[in-house]
Amino acid sequence: MESAYLPKSVDPERSADQGLEFAGDLDPAPLARLGELLAAQAGPISSRFGFRRDEEGRAVMVGSAEASLPLICQRCTDLFLFEARADWRRVFARSETDEQELAEKGLDVCYHGGPLDVAELIEEELILALPMAPRHPEGCEPVARPAGGIHPFAGLAELLKRETRDN
Ligand SMILES: [Zn+2]
Repeated sequence: MESAYLPKSVDPERSADQGLEFAGDLDPAPLARLGELLAAQAGPISSRFGFRRDEEGRAVMVGSAEASLPLICQRCTDLFLFEARADWRRVFARSETDEQELAEKGLDVCYHGGPLDVAELIEEELILALPMAPRHPEGCEPVARPAGGIHPFAGLAELLKRETRDN
């Protein structure tokens, strides 16, 4: 069963029982933490996710989100749209012990009853999908250094020369 909208919050246990799936767009405007990392306002985020149970009966959420995120290229310092894609799989542990065991296996695990904030989760996943050093994927020209001008370290070289002489 798939709903053509994103809910504000979901209950992983109940959704897993019903095998619920959701797909829709999310407005990035209220996502302040993501917004701080962007050079301009992002376009709509499209996401889909679903719930089911694993072999041991735990609720599992599998989802993805895509968005064009405006970033500053670190090579040419121009703005470009980074096509972000986040994929996640979260397991909902049944106890703290269960959570520890799953985390040791390297799984993305949570142990909290109650509903999940959908916007917060998608925001978190997109932040994780941001590149450490954003660059135009198609390549670009590095920022031109001032030609024929004063070398930025000229002053420093003079200073060093003077110090050597003084000692
Ligand atoms: Zn660039």
